Amino acid sequence: MKLGILSRNSKLYSTRRLVEAAEQRGHEVRVVDPLRCYMNITAHSPQIHYKGDILDQFNAVIPRIGASITFYGTAILRQFEMMNVYPLNESVAISRSRDKLRSLQLLSRRGIGLPVTGFAHSPDDIDDLLATVGGAPCVIKLLEGTQGLGVVLAETKQAAESVIQAFMGLKQHILVQEYIQEAKGSDIRCFVIGDKVVAAMKRQAKDGEFRSNLHRGGSASLCRITPEERATAVRAAKVMGLNVCGVDLLRSNHGAVVMEVNSSPGLEGIENASGKDVAGMIIEFIEKNAKPNRTKTKGS
Ligand code: ADP
Ligand code: GLU
Repeated sequence: MKLGILSRNSKLYSTRRLVEAAEQRGHEVRVVDPLRCYMNITAHSPQIHYKGDILDQFNAVIPRIGASITFYGTAILRQFEMMNVYPLNESVAISRSRDKLRSLQLLSRRGIGLPVTGFAHSPDDIDDLLATVGGAPCVIKLLEGTQGLGVVLAETKQAAESVIQAFMGLKQHILVQEYIQEAKGSDIRCFVIGDKVVAAMKRQAKDGEFRSNLHRGGSASLCRITPEERATAVRAAKVMGLNVCGVDLLRSNHGAVVMEVNSSPGLEGIENASGKDVAGMIIEFIEKNAKPNRTKTKGS
């Protein structure tokens, strides 16, 4: 097969591993920077241009679209979909997953366990909002944040009120969430491919930190997950419409709750922690599923 990897940087671990795994399995692969793709959207037949070439060779593309380029990156992916190129994850599903509020609404509608979460606009509603999530301590999250930046633990009601007021004053949308203290600064990353969790790792925050993101100094280790956790992760992926994703769970007193579904999960942490060839499994999934007209949404 001819595969394209939409990635800004071919030196990143995940990109390198996908190239390696694809070549090992006898595929031709090219890394394409989505920000260097351009197109004539009114052309009779959809095309993508890249540094003077026309990209018309791919059977499938693997989007590795960072949060900061979601808008342009998903527009390019949509164009590939219109050209009947199989996307590992569809543009619509990626856009959906990038909106934390929309994701939680979709997951809750399908009965997936979530941390109790509130959303409000007016400072007049802060009291009620805090009551909804059970008061302090609580977690306040900027809707736009990634890698743990913009996630604040407010230990007292006073702290929570002033942080929420400050964010509202800055016209930032925020979520307020019950603090799952019993998770003790750890979360579980389930790496889902198709209808399976192929690897899982526990991420533990460094001392004095509650955020377990690897970018915030957290450490990863292999972990066993329960059949319920496995089922929850697979269902969450399905609700989001993502073939490949990282589902982050918190182990709470009321069972495992889904914190986030990541449509471009990194491979370095999970391959190192699990010792598994996750990149190879992704390529294998594409081999089985990449057929023309398999895209559910065709960019709509
Ligand atoms: P980001 O998308 O920026 O990584 P997250 O919502 O995943 O933000 O939060 C970052 C980290 O903070 C999580 O990995 C988790 O360790 C911790 N965290 C987030 N929400 C909660 C919560 N409700 N209770 C306990 N810990 C949380
Ligand atoms: N970007 C990586 C991922 O989504 C790592 C995130 C982190 O810091 O935990 O898996």
